[in-house]
Amino acid sequence: MSHLFYQSKSPRPFLERGEGIYMYDVNGRRYLDGSSGAMVSNIGHSNPAVLAAMRAQMDKSTFGYRLHFQTEASEALATKTAELSPRGLDRVFFVSGGSEAVESALKMARQYKLAIGQGSRFKVISRMPSYHGSTLGALAVTGYDPLTVPFAPMMHEMPKIPAPRAYLDGLDINDPATGLHYANMLEQKIIEEGPETVLAFILEPVGGASTGALVPPAGYMQRIREICDAYDILLIHDEVMSGGGRTGKFWGADHWGTVPDIISISKGFGGGYVPLGAMIARGDMVEAVLETGGFQHGHTYAGNPLACAAGLALIGEIESNNLIANAACMGDLLKARLKGLMNRYPFIGDVRGKGLLLAFELVSDRVTMEPLAAGLSAYQRLVDIAYDEGLIIYSRRTRGGLNGDHFLVCPPMIIGEDGIEEIMQGLTRALDKFAAEAGL
Ligand code: PLP
Repeated sequence: MSHLFYQSKSPRPFLERGEGIYMYDVNGRRYLDGSSGAMVSNIGHSNPAVLAAMRAQMDKSTFGYRLHFQTEASEALATKTAELSPRGLDRVFFVSGGSEAVESALKMARQYKLAIGQGSRFKVISRMPSYHGSTLGALAVTGYDPLTVPFAPMMHEMPKIPAPRAYLDGLDINDPATGLHYANMLEQKIIEEGPETVLAFILEPVGGASTGALVPPAGYMQRIREICDAYDILLIHDEVMSGGGRTGKFWGADHWGTVPDIISISKGFGGGYVPLGAMIARGDMVEAVLETGGFQHGHTYAGNPLACAAGLALIGEIESNNLIANAACMGDLLKARLKGLMNRYPFIGDVRGKGLLLAFELVSDRVTMEPLAAGLSAYQRLVDIAYDEGLIIYSRRTRGGLNGDHFLVCPPMIIGEDGIEEIMQGLTRALDKFAAEAGL
């Protein structure tokens, strides 16, 4: 018996090593990491430059508590991160993961509003469905019933508006009226809740696991920014998954040019080499908080020099190998190939995403977009079949809880055309088997 446990009983083989886009188990089987783990391993596995930077840092120090020492590694990564961030967002607070990055963002927002005399504001509006993390603060703004319902009595659940899933509502994502339609739901919600009680709005610029790479409709991001400004509400971009280059721009929101007040990032920021994340905030907000007694929040491992040295080397690899441009180019190719599968499989209802943050969704009827029968457990079965075919993909149920299945296909940003071809072959074999088994 293993003494270790995670969410469910689904044992997988022991991992031996990872290399580039591949992972190998101890039985010698090779898997193409078609989801970069959980959209984490953005530059692939065992990158020699990152490992060398980690070894060099390990020879110096692996820990210096932030109240006792500054470290060159954390200073250098903070400077680099600020340079990569939108104008005005130049203060960086390191954490060890996405949930911590979101918690930090929520608390920074609250403390800033307290500092400027707007203490009545505490509600953070978010979207349904959405995923912002597993800790109770991040969970309170998460819109995904199976995760939130068991803990509802333990947290202050926050107001939600629908995510802009135009493909389910039969609306055209390229029509600016669609963007306005969904964005204006934020304004209605603010009015309903009372603007003087609303602190912030949080969204994933390109959706992650909860929506399956949802891309906002034309005009949505811009209108959201306008509404936040009009009601003096802070805008938080949760770029835990979409940040770091995977979408074909360093920040997901760069596709629309909108600037938030706070950003959270993790996953690809540590790239699977180290637990690393950050909350990046507007300089004037941070100053206001520091002047009124300091930020009442922090984690012991924050700014760990080993993690920061790895993070800095990872950004260096992205830049020197033009991996963001590669993600854009390979993403276009992969998306076109995935769309091509819709000719072969009538039960693929939608293909969406940006760069290498891509997903497809299975439906029983492409016109009504009704999900597949829940009993088929497609979200589990197709992943298992693909795994047996040597291809790792990532799935979630998508409709806020109990049915609907989507699959993220998000290989490392180093992938080339051969890798894309291999993904398509593995996926086709897996979909054929799934279709035969499910009688589709
Ligand atoms: N925010 C988003 C958008 C995510 O996708 C995730 C994880 O999937 C999180 C937050 C939470 O990150 P972590 O699992 O590192 O705590």
